[in-house]
Amino acid sequence: MRALIIENNPSHREMLEHTFAEQGFTNDTGDSIENARSLVDDTDYDIICVNQELKDGPGESFVEYCNQHSRQKKTPILFLTENPDISPGNLPVKVDGVIHELNLQQIQDQIVRFVDLNLDSVFFEGRILFVEDDDEVASVILTQLEETGYQVTHFKTADEAWLEFDKVKIYGSHAEAYDLVITEINLQSGMNGDDLVKGIRSFEDGRGFIPIIAITEYNDDQRRISLYHQGVNDFLPKPILHEELLVRIHNLITNKRLLDKVHDIRRELFAMATTDKLTGCHNRHSLMEFSDKFISQALRHKYPISMLVIDLDHFKAVNDTHGHAVGDIVLELTGGLLNRSFRDGDLVTRYGGEEFVVLLTHCDGKHAMEKADEVREAIENLNPNGLKITTSIGVASIEVGCEQDFEALFHAGDEGVYQAKKNGRNQVVFVGMEQKISDKSEVS
Ligand code: GH3
Ligand code: MG
Ligand code: MG
Repeated sequence: MRALIIENNPSHREMLEHTFAEQGFTNDTGDSIENARSLVDDTDYDIICVNQELKDGPGESFVEYCNQHSRQKKTPILFLTENPDISPGNLPVKVDGVIHELNLQQIQDQIVRFVDLNLDSVFFEGRILFVEDDDEVASVILTQLEETGYQVTHFKTADEAWLEFDKVKIYGSHAEAYDLVITEINLQSGMNGDDLVKGIRSFEDGRGFIPIIAITEYNDDQRRISLYHQGVNDFLPKPILHEELLVRIHNLITNKRLLDKVHDIRRELFAMATTDKLTGCHNRHSLMEFSDKFISQALRHKYPISMLVIDLDHFKAVNDTHGHAVGDIVLELTGGLLNRSFRDGDLVTRYGGEEFVVLLTHCDGKHAMEKADEVREAIENLNPNGLKITTSIGVASIEVGCEQDFEALFHAGDEGVYQAKKNGRNQVVFVGMEQKISDKSEVS
């Protein structure tokens, strides 16, 4: 699909190009009436987007040219204006939609809506997994869907489709993910369509939520109701009406994509709520939220778990000497190093200020000490912003067979930091859980 964007303002033009590209359009752009006229003379467009203010005159005169142009007579035209009083009804030329330029986000949202409403018959996009064992039916549907713009993977058996679905572990808004399954229910060999539907719905990840259209030769009520119970979203009896199939596909894919967006936003919000912005480590809230689960799982499944409490030495002096901004760079780079230093299943958090807490699962005291010393040395050699930074690290562990909680573990780790500071800093101290916790007012 091709869009023509005629816009004077370069940053607006760029945003429009981006928005249309995201909608699947290839774009041509221009900024003047003269420029625009020569483009419409040579090319068929699926949509034309034009601003009222152009370099060499009003956008209306270009719209008038399009209205009379045999090539573009039917092309939907979207008119952008800053004038809030203009509507499609009171313009002297024919346009299909008007967007009042308020802010970029609103313009983008309105373009998406406009495209959806006006280009329903040509705007189709999505990946479809299609199961049909009748060659003739398959070939007709396949051709129609592909001509409409869908990417279709066709299988003759549900077994092959199932293998593919099982293998491709991606879902949601991922560009390679399937958006829809269309399956014949009465398949002649192997797995039946019902089994495929049940199998797909049994996935616990996002694959389990993909929309499914069932097609069959039978249209009895009970069979249809039972398919809906199994998780089919839509049902089409054969012979299939091409237009009906397309509309149903479009509706299901549109809804799926909206839901994908909601999931993406939820994931982003979750990441924002659990991540420390400066360092990219988990934040203190995350530690409080997940630590109990980490520890109870270690106790239940009988593996050791350890904690490092990492406190930068004399960090106040870094701020005092080089300024807070340099202090922030030091924290950012140290956090980055910590994030890279531990296994995926470990929890690296910025507990506050210049203090980090790491939970290491499947890690006993001996290994935690080794790891802590590696990290201490790595920080000593990091030289963030050219500065020599050292750390004091307290290590504590819950060994297999011990019943301890987060509080006790943290107290021991914190005691380790205290002793490391007291002994001269830049060192690692292990504190056994049974050890007495000191009065901390002594360290200077
Ligand atoms: P010690 O070796 O005993 O740990 O000394 P210290 O100076 O590191 O410890 P102290 O607790 O006295 O000071 C910590 C400093 O960390 C004080 C505070 O201003 C600074 N700090 C806390 N959060 C941030 C931050 O987000 N950015 C910057 N630049 N500094 C921070
Ligand atoms: Mg400190
Ligand atoms: Mg501190």
